[in-house]
Amino acid sequence: MPQQIYPGQSKFHLQKEEAMLAKQAKRRANKQKHMAKNREKQRQYQINDNLLNEQLMSQQAIEKYSIKTFFLLTCRLLLLNTSYQSLISAQERWPLSLPNSKQFYSNFYDMIQKVSHNIVCGCCGIIEHNVEEFAMVSANDSILKYLAVEPEKVPFSFSCGIVSLDEQHVIVDPLAVTDEDTVSVCQKCHSSLSDGLLPIEALANFRWVGPVPEELKDLT
Ligand SMILES: [Zn+2]
Repeated sequence: MPQQIYPGQSKFHLQKEEAMLAKQAKRRANKQKHMAKNREKQRQYQINDNLLNEQLMSQQAIEKYSIKTFFLLTCRLLLLNTSYQSLISAQERWPLSLPNSKQFYSNFYDMIQKVSHNIVCGCCGIIEHNVEEFAMVSANDSILKYLAVEPEKVPFSFSCGIVSLDEQHVIVDPLAVTDEDTVSVCQKCHSSLSDGLLPIEALANFRWVGPVPEELKDLT
């Protein structure tokens, strides 16, 4: 549509203005085209980067999985191989020859002799069967002084039959007196007493129980 000419406006000016507007429009179009091109280029760069990262990660995962699988398989195969060799070896040795019967019986006899005792700890009253797990303590040994109590706090007579201990009010289980001046003490209590400590389990640590009631004497 032809543009209207206002008073004071020449045709030349009008053409100049139209040319300038066209130029500006062209510049804007070029700018937009350039920006679109840049955006497309950036998008393509991003796609390429993503592809590259995906390939890298998948390559790393494959390598890691392969190494792990390799080690697991190798270890498992070694274990299976060792187990199989042990089995073959055991089959070749079977049946095993019997041990020397005399020696076998002798060992059994020695062990039974060793553990067929009822031995009581004078300190804590525990009953065990292996003599080697006890120490034989002389009544004059100073470690027994830690088992002394105040007699007025104990509501029964706790005499063990060894005069020197009774005079010092030392509580020991009478069943632990092996002869007139020796008391058996378990290794645990002996260790504590040797360190100058009253064992927690000691009868003298307020764990005295007194004589066994008639009703309980027949219990096994
Ligand atoms: Zn003990």
